[in-house]
Amino acid sequence: MRSAEKLIESEHRLGAHNYKPLDVVLNRGEGVWLWDVDGNRYLDCLSAYSAVNQGHCHPKILDAMVTQAKQLTLTSRAFRNDQLALLYEDLAKLTGSHKILPMNSGAEAVESAVKAVRKWGYEVRGVPEDKAEIIVCSDNFHGRTLGIVGFSTDPTARQGFGPFAPGFKVVPFGDYDAFAAAVTDNTVAFLIEPIQGEAGVVIPPEDFFPRVRALCSERNITLILDEIQTGLGRTGKLLAEEHEGIEADVTLVGKALSGGFYPVSAVLSNSEVLGVLKPGEHGSTFGGNPLACAVARAALKALVEEGMIENAARQGDYFQERLKAIRANGVRNVRGRGLMLAVELHPEAGGARRYCEALKNRGLLAKDTHDHTIRIAPPLVITKDQVDWAADQFEAVLTGLDT
Ligand SMILES: *Cc1c(COP(=O)(O)O)cnc(C)c1O
Repeated sequence: MRSAEKLIESEHRLGAHNYKPLDVVLNRGEGVWLWDVDGNRYLDCLSAYSAVNQGHCHPKILDAMVTQAKQLTLTSRAFRNDQLALLYEDLAKLTGSHKILPMNSGAEAVESAVKAVRKWGYEVRGVPEDKAEIIVCSDNFHGRTLGIVGFSTDPTARQGFGPFAPGFKVVPFGDYDAFAAAVTDNTVAFLIEPIQGEAGVVIPPEDFFPRVRALCSERNITLILDEIQTGLGRTGKLLAEEHEGIEADVTLVGKALSGGFYPVSAVLSNSEVLGVLKPGEHGSTFGGNPLACAVARAALKALVEEGMIENAARQGDYFQERLKAIRANGVRNVRGRGLMLAVELHPEAGGARRYCEALKNRGLLAKDTHDHTIRIAPPLVITKDQVDWAADQFEAVLTGLDT
């Protein structure tokens, strides 16, 4: 077996440097645990950005994947396969959506929704050609394609990649008045994350989404919730919109839709918006393939039948309570919903990255975001004892920061 050093050296030499990973080389996962090539065990508090909500290498998802891989993997949508309808049925039953578009990555789901809602704007709403406007939020994260980074407000994500597509307006996240002021007769959609994940787990004011929902209904604006990270149990509900007491017109899911086995995403909608797409107008070679569908069905089943969503609510509340009880001068704020948690540090604390390094040395993997925030998102199968252990590690590292 190659040593961690050799693998890291090779990666550094041959790979594009578009990531700066912690220097831990992993080769095995099970449930909440990960192991590195030297046999050290870590509690995963990132879950591949919530793609592994069901826990690493979930045996039932693995079974479904292996069984389907032996049977049929890809036909393209030029022909039908016997798994796609079943995934549609499961998603419709679970989320109440009327029309579904299967894609692969999260960014593709976002792009697909943008395309569909523009077309809907022209064909159904009667917006003049090429005038459709979509409102998005500052500090958004919706993926990495050109279309998407074009309406990012993060200079690192944008700079040097222009020119970008027009048709997007940015308003501050959680600011209803700014949103209302940005609406025009050409506004076809509001694209927003229920909780901004990459921005550091930012939760909007309580009355924000109900008011947004009301205005969208009044002005016939499609409310698109990007639940690629917040969805599928992460916040203690199937979808984070349930915390707000609203329903989106279009919901984007991805990440945990496959339990981390394979990229699977979907646009879930009322029939009007996706109904505008006619044969040939949009597509994907891999989207809706039988392997993806079988894996996604097993991933959804595990999530629901094994009580992971309820567990996320329960352990999330407990984890947050434990984190809030930590008395450390460096901690500015602890927040979150379900198992989507964040510890924000004071700028004087010297940056979140070094605490993630210290946590790693104690056997816990977490990710810093935006310099001063540690994001915590373990698989939803975490137990109370494991939360206690994790909270102890945070306490040790965060109080160590005072000295
Ligand atoms: C991860 C993420 C995406 C992009 O998903 P990819 O599969 O990486 O393309 C989009 N939106 C949100 C909110 C995400 O967290």
